[in-house]
Amino acid sequence: MALATKKDMSWVKWVHEIYMKTCRNIWDHCPPQDSSWYWKKLNGLKEKMNKLLTKERMMRLQFPDVGDIDCCLCALATPENQQHLFGECNWIGEVRGSLSRWAGIPIPAKNVEDCMRWIKNRQWRQFRKELAAALYGALIYYAWQARNWRVYRGLNVDTRFITTQIQKEIRERVSLFIGSRKARRCQVLIQRISN
Ligand SMILES: [Zn+2]
Repeated sequence: MALATKKDMSWVKWVHEIYMKTCRNIWDHCPPQDSSWYWKKLNGLKEKMNKLLTKERMMRLQFPDVGDIDCCLCALATPENQQHLFGECNWIGEVRGSLSRWAGIPIPAKNVEDCMRWIKNRQWRQFRKELAAALYGALIYYAWQARNWRVYRGLNVDTRFITTQIQKEIRERVSLFIGSRKARRCQVLIQRISN
């Protein structure tokens, strides 16, 4: 399906843009207080992902040969929606669990809105919150990409491969900020993820 593939590419690009923008903002801005700027950015993700999924569902219903609209990343035969894809799905669950253990930062199995609220309400240092938000942003981005690769290219994306990829990206980002004041307050955390 040429149409789907073309659209798929633009969606991937679009999600990628959100992810990159979000992450850039997370690491570049230095707000004087916890002004929840990263929270606002990521909060917009919820509606955007909802729109994407709705659009996608409508398009796939017009082309029944594409298949059903259950989640394609796990064997649960559960409808593909944000709550499932970014929360309960086994695929994202595996990546989330590995990243959580690696960084020593809990990431709840919740949709975008609930997860961001959860992070925001932690009594954590700013750097830890930003790291949690970056990890979650990466999870959303790669889950969406894995889902598109499965739907349009028939590819199974290995969760260990994605975990390693996210760790690499996070390490690179953190290495740019190692000397900053807020990072110096979280040396243990930085050492943990730098190894
Ligand atoms: Zn699933």
